[in-house]
Amino acid sequence: MSNPASILGVYISIPFCRAKCSYCNFASGVFGSERMAAYIDMLTADIRAIPERADAWGAKLPEIADSLYFGGGTPSLLSPEQMRQIMQALQEVFSFTSSAEITLECAPGQLSEDLLQSIPGLRFNRVSLGVQSFVDQEAAAVGRLHTRGITLKEIERLRAAGMDDINVDLIAGLPHQTRESWNVSLAEAIATGVPHLSVYMLDVDEDSRLGREMIAGGTRYGVGMVPNEQTIAEMYTEACERFAAAGIAHYEISNFARAGHESRHNLKYWTLQPYVGFGLDAHSFLPTTDGRAIRVGTTDDLTMYLDPSRSCGELETITPVSTAEALEEAWFLGLRLTGGVSLRSMERRFGEAATPMFQSILFDCEQQGLLEREDDTVRLTPCGRLFSNDVFARFLGVLPEQETAANPLQEQGVGA
Ligand code: SF4
Repeated sequence: MSNPASILGVYISIPFCRAKCSYCNFASGVFGSERMAAYIDMLTADIRAIPERADAWGAKLPEIADSLYFGGGTPSLLSPEQMRQIMQALQEVFSFTSSAEITLECAPGQLSEDLLQSIPGLRFNRVSLGVQSFVDQEAAAVGRLHTRGITLKEIERLRAAGMDDINVDLIAGLPHQTRESWNVSLAEAIATGVPHLSVYMLDVDEDSRLGREMIAGGTRYGVGMVPNEQTIAEMYTEACERFAAAGIAHYEISNFARAGHESRHNLKYWTLQPYVGFGLDAHSFLPTTDGRAIRVGTTDDLTMYLDPSRSCGELETITPVSTAEALEEAWFLGLRLTGGVSLRSMERRFGEAATPMFQSILFDCEQQGLLEREDDTVRLTPCGRLFSNDVFARFLGVLPEQETAANPLQEQGVGA
């Protein structure tokens, strides 16, 4: 069996949308076709330059990839020809396994017939639909352009084209949402029979229009109709219970899947396996040739990204992963997974001191009902999932920063 640390996940950022959703804090926007064409040119040039870039970073870049994820933004807005350009560049650099998971993010109603018909040739075998709500008033209030009818029709179209591996994203906490309307969305999502569902609790910040309006105490974007935190937490708990009753397993804080349909690509993030990202605000995590690891981030400034005179190096922020960070990340990323963190596995990877120094945190969290322990494994409780950010924050800063950086990619990811 191949070592998962030597197989790559590839992420492609397509930051274009037909309209900007009020809650969105991603580096995405509404731009004309000229900028999209220029972006594809820059993106494909960056893909072809990655072997050189990896050398410059001192990184080991696996050539074999078993996942590819087109996210954004709304990558389904690209034409088949633009997709082919990107795929061509990727295939010049990477070798995708025959069973590679290849995901396309779509907004319902924004997948052209041309692109849909090209999906098999482009090797896409998974689609993630940004539905957010099956209640039309809620979707419209945040600027989504689809209705329940459009979403259901889109799922039918995808299935008619042979695409069954579909994810539906939902958001708990949208303006106008109530416990009753949330249950309508949950029932609709379950009734579609899609094998993967994601539920995110609305988290607004000053990088979104909705967040800025809330901070300013304004009234636009349905700010006054956003459910309170307690209600959002109850909605999340209802989703967990209803999906479990429908046989859709909860495998990560925000993700639920029927057996065998877990997102291979996203599992790479949570289990510290290597990935490389291309395009605006994309991120990479790679082992280095001297046995360490680095993270690389690309600018989120589109004008800078499209500047023909820029070099790749100007766009990048390179951060060596310190031992302290690697260990902290292994804890809080592992705890995101329902499978939890194996203490023995942590000690194998980071040494015998890897767990004793966190014992008091584990003990406090267990006492407060946030974590539970079963034999060798520690995992979040249902209550801990609601307060996961508070739990994860406790794992930060426990260790002093050290000069020596570790390679957290030596074996299969924690919690996998
Ligand atoms: S479609 Fe997605 S990326 Fe685009 S604005 Fe809406 S939430 Fe943001």
